[in-house]
Amino acid sequence: MPKYIFVVGGVMSGLGKGVTAASLAKLLVLSGFRVTCAKIDPYLNVDAGTMNPLIHGEVFVSDDGGETDMDLGTYERFLDQNLTREHNITTGQIYNSVIEGERAGKYLGKCVQIIPHITDEIKHRIQLLAQKTKVDILLIELGGTVGDIEGLPFLEAFRQMRLEIGVDNTLFIHTTLVPVVDPVGEQKTKPTQHSVQELRRIGIQPDIIVVRSKSPLTKDSRKKISLFTSVDVRSVISNHDCPSIYSVPQMLEAEGILDSIFSKMRLRNRSINWGSWKSTAKSFSRPSRSTRIAMVGKYVTLADSYVSINHALLHSGATLGTKTVVEWLDAEKLEGNVTNLHLLDSYDGILVPGGFGTRGSEGKIAAANYAAICGIPYLGICFGFQLAVIAHARHRCGLEHASSSELDQHTPHPVIDLLPEQREIDEIGGSMRLGAHTISLSKGSLANRIYGSLQIQERHRHRFEVNPKYQHRLETGGIRFTGVSDGKKRMECLEIPDHPFYFGTQFHAEFTSRPGTPAPAFLAFVEAANKRKSPGQSIRGH
Ligand code: GLN
Repeated sequence: MPKYIFVVGGVMSGLGKGVTAASLAKLLVLSGFRVTCAKIDPYLNVDAGTMNPLIHGEVFVSDDGGETDMDLGTYERFLDQNLTREHNITTGQIYNSVIEGERAGKYLGKCVQIIPHITDEIKHRIQLLAQKTKVDILLIELGGTVGDIEGLPFLEAFRQMRLEIGVDNTLFIHTTLVPVVDPVGEQKTKPTQHSVQELRRIGIQPDIIVVRSKSPLTKDSRKKISLFTSVDVRSVISNHDCPSIYSVPQMLEAEGILDSIFSKMRLRNRSINWGSWKSTAKSFSRPSRSTRIAMVGKYVTLADSYVSINHALLHSGATLGTKTVVEWLDAEKLEGNVTNLHLLDSYDGILVPGGFGTRGSEGKIAAANYAAICGIPYLGICFGFQLAVIAHARHRCGLEHASSSELDQHTPHPVIDLLPEQREIDEIGGSMRLGAHTISLSKGSLANRIYGSLQIQERHRHRFEVNPKYQHRLETGGIRFTGVSDGKKRMECLEIPDHPFYFGTQFHAEFTSRPGTPAPAFLAFVEAANKRKSPGQSIRGH
């Protein structure tokens, strides 16, 4: 029978609960257990696909086309597992199925209520996932903070699960913050005490407390937390700042979290086999040279909007012994402003990520064009790929005012147009071309060298694509479409042959990048950016 570890948070959001859950799951995997992670988001949206990444963070796309919470990306990167849409449960999904059941007559005669019907549906989904994934242990992270109204039915369901399947088969981990507010540097444990009280008020006693703090938790703080929360002092775990998130598993292990889990869940102690994890984690903290990447975008304020891209760059940098420094450039500032465009000269590479809508798009097109003319390494992802096509159409194919029908419905040259099957769709949620699709690469192309293969699988999230009617005209102008899918009808990769590195992809290679095995497209891009920095170094395959 599978066991369940519930990770809930207190004090405030943004404490890295996802990293704690993923790190813990990693430790258990390295100890030989079959483990996976699930995320519960207590909002009413059915999935994250309709949510603004500027407020909520990136929409992470799974292989099966799920538009999920960005924590699933954290789990995938730590566990090196491909998760599914079922790993992300939301209040919207739970209510949807209960209400559908009610309409279908499933509860005939009964008054349908939060307890037991909603809580039963929650427990059912959690247990079904554990069964389907055949794990020994399922880690479930609850989004939000204890005390949120939205989270209550989920906490109630967890409480019931402990009652039903037993203390040994369930474990509660509470993650909190110990701040330092005065100049003396005293660690304050009161917020932790209060949030544990809040948890107890609804009938949950935590088994382990993982505390985020700037510096290691002092003995005094540990004792105090233990005393006020009735958690044994060895199960008060310090999760203090460290050089890289990939070092968190080691820190938690050194803090003794596994011993605590093993004894509380009555699991036989297993010794941990770190494999290559420690050296991979170390490669992120090695101080070395840096590679500066200009990221041209519209969401300039929230780093979480493009978290997978940031990680793919970091993974690539770590593998190549360099620290990738991403600097955001506001695309709108590049529009019609040649002086600002020259700012791009000082970067080692230019990246235009995925995106939607008109605002800033002309600035991104200008950046894509500038990179092409000036020989600056360029990587265009999804929207960044489409905008590179537009830049090329306008400047090298004589297609004046070429554009995407997303940006200009009356363009004389819709070189980027709606996917034909999208014309009939009028619902916004979950309706893009999503998830993993197979792509064939042209032999001898840059794409082929990057991937070392002629067939790849990558994840997608888009409604528009290169208009096949313009393929020939665009290619005569000097770009090559070297990746195609769906019976060659879809352009997936573009490159400019005599350029140091100019690569665009309709797919999102960032979603499958992992520490130690970076996404090939990103690795090749950072490698080319390094070469621009220090000419003379070789680029793989060139
Ligand atoms: N807006 C573009 C489309 O829908 C690109 C989407 C993206 O970058 N994810 O096709």
